Amino acid sequence: MSDCLFCKIAAGDIPSGKVYEDDDVYAFKDIHPKAPTHVLVIPRQHIATLADCHDPALLGTLMDRARMIADDILQLAAGYRIVINVRDGGGQEVFHLHVHILGSKKLPF
Ligand code: 5GP
Ligand code: ZN
Repeated sequence: MSDCLFCKIAAGDIPSGKVYEDDDVYAFKDIHPKAPTHVLVIPRQHIATLADCHDPALLGTLMDRARMIADDILQLAAGYRIVINVRDGGGQEVFHLHVHILGSKKLPF
């Protein structure tokens, strides 16, 4: 989508701290990290929110890549948190589906 911030980041039109990319997803460092490690994983396809996604294969790929990035690339061996904020009430500010990976400190719940 032409006016979507995360579509522009995935396309390379807006600079980001890239962590990983493939044909399906793009991962980059959050600009305002809420933990020492804070990475966002997004599908290349524009989907506004988790609630708008009815594609189990896409969701499976997104979650599998988040796991791979956290374990193999970021090497968060002590553990990490995966978060998806959904719509305003869930704290979502950017309306392109994204998975937060948070780690490198003990996270209170
Ligand atoms: P949400 O609140 O929608 O779940 O999370 C959006 C996240 O995107 C926030 O943690 C915010 O810091 C991050 N963010 C917003 N704008 C940018 C940007 O231009 N670049 C990067 N790297 N992260 C951004
Ligand atoms: Zn988008």
